[in-house]
Amino acid sequence: MKKFDVIIIGAGVAGISTAIQLKRFGVSFLLLDKNKPCSHLRNAYLIENYLGFPDFIYGEELAKLFISQLKKFHIPILQREVYKIGFLNNEFVVYSDSEKYSSKFLVLATGSIPVKIPFESDRIFYDIIKLKKVKNKTITVIGSGDVAFDYALSLSMENNVILINRSHNCKCINSLSDKVFQNTNIRYLYNYKLINVLDYNKKIILHFKHKLNNNILEITSDYLVPAIGRKPNNLLIEKIKKYKGLYLAGDVRNPKFRQIAIASGDGIKVAMKIFKELKNTA
Ligand SMILES: Cc1cc2nc3c(=O)[nH]c(=O)nc-3n(C[C@H](O)[C@H](O)[C@H](O)COP(=O)(O)OP(=O)(O)OC[C@H]3O[C@@H](n4cnc5c(N)ncnc54)[C@H](O)[C@@H]3O)c2cc1C
Repeated sequence: MKKFDVIIIGAGVAGISTAIQLKRFGVSFLLLDKNKPCSHLRNAYLIENYLGFPDFIYGEELAKLFISQLKKFHIPILQREVYKIGFLNNEFVVYSDSEKYSSKFLVLATGSIPVKIPFESDRIFYDIIKLKKVKNKTITVIGSGDVAFDYALSLSMENNVILINRSHNCKCINSLSDKVFQNTNIRYLYNYKLINVLDYNKKIILHFKHKLNNNILEITSDYLVPAIGRKPNNLLIEKIKKYKGLYLAGDVRNPKFRQIAIASGDGIKVAMKIFKELKNTA
């Protein structure tokens, strides 16, 4: 079993920030991710609140910059899914499908997972990385928060989008809703709740019920993107959360404050705490 001082699970904003700071301290660590790095951030449309980019920057572009910074520090990412974490002889044991690794400290930077709808289809997508490549399609997005509105804006660049909110309350920030309401490629409907999904002839047929008058609305779409909420991706630590040496960073730690600057600050702070503890025990 390979041993490290620190294992970081997740190479998103938080994991990358932790890794760069640990590298600067000269601490040995392993950075693991089941996907490509920054897979979540690559879904984002225009980032307006991350300092240093006065003309704003697309999520995809910012992710590329974060990854090139990681490469400058010669930090490799091991592409593995972690499916279990144990604790043995005062060390964390991390199990991937092919190997296991151990460490004194563990950083969980696994982000968030989408809340799912009770329907299944190959035409339902919970993130939009693959859909960013499609053109001239009709895509229905459901949700009322920042992510739903942000997805609608990204997808509207090459497609027609129908954005459906199940209530009349819009939970997203004004700067996103203003852009959506002015966008002629996005049709916004509210007070419609999704009640059924059917696959039909390479399309998806969606039935919605109006909240006030119970009228049924049928929409035929190429794809459906539910963006109805996200929850912390923390199931892996259910059995080990009592042990010292475990740190959480980023969206997994701050489900209500999912922001790049917060995730990055968290990652750096965790690395500084770990370095201090290692120095005290040396
Ligand atoms: C559409 C959209 C728009 C956004 N807009 C903004 C914005 O304008 N401004 C802003 O500040 N923030 C924005 N955000 C939020 C921002 O992208 C996140 O806060 C940030 O990416 C969180 O980083 P993280 O490192 O905590 O998690 P993530 O980036 O989600 O990284 C978690 C990583 O862990 C990996 N992982 C999970 N489980 C495992 C496992 N079992 N084994 C191995 N690897 C695993 C995942 O593959 C993933 O790469 C937006 C997000 C979205 C989706």
